[in-house]
Amino acid sequence: MPLPAIDSTTDGHVHTRLCHHARGEMEEYVLAAMAAGLKKLVFLEHHEIGINYFESTWLTEAEFVAYHAEGKRLAARYAGKIEIGCGVEVGANPDHLQETADFLGRFAWDRIGLSYHYLWAGNEHVNMVSRRPASIALMEAIGVEKVAAAYFEGLTRALAVIPADVVCHLDAVLRHCPAFAFTGEHFARVREILALMRAKDIALEVNTSGFALRGEPYPTLAILQEARRMGIRLAAGSDAHRPADVGRYFDRLPGLLGEKADEPAVRGQQSEEPKVS
Ligand SMILES: [Zn+2]
Ligand SMILES: [Zn+2]
Repeated sequence: MPLPAIDSTTDGHVHTRLCHHARGEMEEYVLAAMAAGLKKLVFLEHHEIGINYFESTWLTEAEFVAYHAEGKRLAARYAGKIEIGCGVEVGANPDHLQETADFLGRFAWDRIGLSYHYLWAGNEHVNMVSRRPASIALMEAIGVEKVAAAYFEGLTRALAVIPADVVCHLDAVLRHCPAFAFTGEHFARVREILALMRAKDIALEVNTSGFALRGEPYPTLAILQEARRMGIRLAAGSDAHRPADVGRYFDRLPGLLGEKADEPAVRGQQSEEPKVS
């Protein structure tokens, strides 16, 4: 049976002003989603535990209570027009995995997205997807290959403990570091992670914020095609941090993976190592 196309009627990853680095009320995102013709919108607000960083880019547990209440209100208010879900983009902190799983267990989530943003750097955490010059300098001081290795290792450990539904922006690590290039070695690590995801039936996010930055989503098309070959579900998310970005570039999702990717996946077939830029 052919794998279904990427569902471009659901935006499964948006933020709001609640995370301190996005703009707009939850309701403004709902209105933007309806204006974009989406059938479903899933909020995926940030959660982190045990992070030492100069600013908080995530919600407290009390804020998550209010977030869920507002999500329920909006779901009722817009019932019949658009489906609304409240999820979480949960940070993979290898030193606090059980604590994170315990937190997740205290709420009912429509989606749990797993991301790995913050790496422990000795005195403080560094945000591995940040474009801040200070973050880039710190990653270069650690060594970009060391950061990449720690990223894949930490994500692997998190996948064993965190009940994730989807893995977010899988190859966005070090994305603003000019000294880092994604190689076949990194692709091999990605493939191991994809195999774990396949075993647990965890979806891979097609994060369309990448189109604005590099003309293709996170992760890169070669990884998306590999995931497809492995039979992993793909889930679209805009990663909007302002209402105007809800559903951004979703018009590029139909046919994104080409004719071949729409053919049935052949189990056990070895694919050639695609080049990853
Ligand atoms: Zn964010
Ligand atoms: Zn993220």
